[in-house]
Amino acid sequence: MTISRRKILSGLGITTTILLSPLQLFATSLKEKIETFRDTLNGKLITRNDKNYELTRLSSVWQQVKPKQFPDCIVQAKNVDDVVAAVNFARTNHKQISIRCGGHSYYSSFLQNDKLMLDVSSLREVSIDTGKRQARVQVAMRSVDFMAEIAKHGFSFPAAHCGNVPLGGFLLGGGAGWNGEAWGGMSCFNISEVEVVTAQGQLIRANAEQNSDYYWAARGARPNFFGVVTEFVLDLYAEPKVILTTTLIWEVSRAKDVADWLEAHIRSMPENVEALFILTQNPDPKHEAGEERVCIVQVSAFSDTEAEARQALAPLSSSAMTDDCLAKTEYASTPIASLYEWDAMAYPQWRWDVDHLWSDDSAGDVVEKVIQHTRDMPSTRSSILLLLKPHTKELPDAAFSMIGSLYIACYAIWGSPDEDIPNNNWVKKTMTLLKENTKGHYVNESNYADNPERARGSFSAESLQKLKRLSSKHDPEHLFHSYL
Ligand SMILES: Cc1cc2nc3c(=O)[nH]c(=O)nc-3n(C[C@H](O)[C@H](O)[C@H](O)COP(=O)(O)OP(=O)(O)OC[C@H]3O[C@@H](n4cnc5c(N)ncnc54)[C@H](O)[C@@H]3O)c2cc1C
Repeated sequence: MTISRRKILSGLGITTTILLSPLQLFATSLKEKIETFRDTLNGKLITRNDKNYELTRLSSVWQQVKPKQFPDCIVQAKNVDDVVAAVNFARTNHKQISIRCGGHSYYSSFLQNDKLMLDVSSLREVSIDTGKRQARVQVAMRSVDFMAEIAKHGFSFPAAHCGNVPLGGFLLGGGAGWNGEAWGGMSCFNISEVEVVTAQGQLIRANAEQNSDYYWAARGARPNFFGVVTEFVLDLYAEPKVILTTTLIWEVSRAKDVADWLEAHIRSMPENVEALFILTQNPDPKHEAGEERVCIVQVSAFSDTEAEARQALAPLSSSAMTDDCLAKTEYASTPIASLYEWDAMAYPQWRWDVDHLWSDDSAGDVVEKVIQHTRDMPSTRSSILLLLKPHTKELPDAAFSMIGSLYIACYAIWGSPDEDIPNNNWVKKTMTLLKENTKGHYVNESNYADNPERARGSFSAESLQKLKRLSSKHDPEHLFHSYL
């Protein structure tokens, strides 16, 4: 069957009759709708026919491994009006939405075949209310910029350890940030309000009293959230006047003893002390022959005075355990800006594969299982990292509901696609070695596409039930892509 449609090329005064199949008619009308939508946007719409589509798609992914996933179109929202327009356009045209903020998801969860990818990375405004000690900040502001901005007013916040990571995905997935234990545990527990564009295209504000379903979910649901978050209101902390860091390095053969020793000390240290334990390549290019793999202990104290910070770190220096360190830097002054510089160097934008687990087991037991595996690491840039004491308080009622006393992450970082297989296998083997130590997974860093069961492992059973119920209630037509 064909349908006849009269088209008047009015400018020339010519009337033609074009015969169209229903499919062509649909395609044409969708094309027209797309063009109308394009005209209404302040930002940009990029479709698969546009010549800059592939460049835009590739550059949306922060690292060098670029998944072969092709959204139908990409909306680069310039402001909140664009977000509302994109949600309404997608709903009326039955297009599912995936959301991109900073593109730092390890597995590019925002990049999905045939979807409308809504890129909110231009939403970066911030204002500070010094009286209330709060910041209103749009989702895509980078951690390093946010910290610099609030520091002008004497405030700080548990922003992401890597400065380029924006607040959006980081906070929606929990957020393990600077000085986390002292500053509310997971960073999302410092959200006091969110601004959300709902599946119905309404712009709402959600907090503990108002639209509380959205507030509950915004603290931890991340790739399963049923709306677009455009802004957070965050509770701030007084900026620590002094941050001192002690860094100690041992041969990897000492790793179990060091982990046991660190854990014994760290649990009794004040909550403003943050401890990382890293198994990796010796960072000193001039290191003596012997073991190239090392364990690094990096402990920072966030304090008001130098004396207080030194006192907090003192147990590390006075111990006989440090006698056989390969290298020792004690009480170094490390303002946030310098910690961010260190992080940027440690985590280059190369090819990445990452996996992780929460565990309640002892650090020494976990570390012992991966000592030889650290020696077998195919890339010298890779590491296995333990965050001790990620959150020691009872979790508030929120979507974020899975945590352990240890966070263990395995980062494979390498340069060439030829080295993908050994590096991917190394990450897989880490998880196999630590299978029995696994309590659950971190919502922010899970690969749900390859492991759909991770959705269960990232939430408590109760929270997962509630999240599914709220998602069906507020997004009944599944406008937003989710892994539930
Ligand atoms: C180098 C590096 C360092 C990191 N360091 C830390 C760290 O110190 N601590 C930590 O906890 N995590 C860390 N992460 C993990 C990071 O927090 C998550 O990957 C986070 O999701 C990245 O945020 P993003 O805004 O780039 O999210 P994107 O990758 O842009 O989006 C990821 C998903 O979040 C959801 N989402 C994003 N924005 C919105 C929105 N506005 N509304 C609704 N849903 C949205 C979408 O489902 C999207 O698929 C790090 C990651 C990298 C690559």
